[in-house]
Amino acid sequence: MRRAPAIIDLELPRDASGFVRRECPQCQRDFKTRPCRHDASILQRRLASLFPFENAHESFDEVPDWWCLYCGYRAAGDEWLTPGQQAHVEAVARAWANHVRYEQLAYVSRTLSLNPRPTFVSVEPEALPGPMPPDTDDLRIIPLVCCGEEVKALWDWEGPLFCPRCGSRHGGLSGRQQIHLEFIQE
Ligand SMILES: [Zn+2]
Ligand SMILES: [Zn+2]
Repeated sequence: MRRAPAIIDLELPRDASGFVRRECPQCQRDFKTRPCRHDASILQRRLASLFPFENAHESFDEVPDWWCLYCGYRAAGDEWLTPGQQAHVEAVARAWANHVRYEQLAYVSRTLSLNPRPTFVSVEPEALPGPMPPDTDDLRIIPLVCCGEEVKALWDWEGPLFCPRCGSRHGGLSGRQQIHLEFIQE
């Protein structure tokens, strides 16, 4: 009998430059940041919300808020998974639940060995999904001076940028708007 794995290996995929993709829950635009030490807690919380673990009552590490690079929207750190990352976590939670259910059924059928005619047959579940494939190496690297960190932004984004970590706004007025303001001041 295959046993449910005691440890779920779950990690957000990185691109060739080592960045992790995030998606804004507000404007749905993609950006990337370096892997952060809260990523494990983010996945753990999301997994626990999808599947009632025995230890779900255990408190998880607090995850700080993040800001959207483009629109400045502020949300809890675990609300920035992309649909692909979210689907993977859900698939792992589902597979894990099947394993646990299978073991429970197998246990019941073993302990009912005196029963001459078992009333159910438990089907061995499929293996847990493997890791997510590495992310594509898109978007352009932009250094943010406020926190001394690099982020990756859309190539065609010309608006202001908000630091995902501290919310500081960088840039703001496009060249045309600046010229317009100078004209008004004269
Ligand atoms: Zn946004
Ligand atoms: Zn910052």
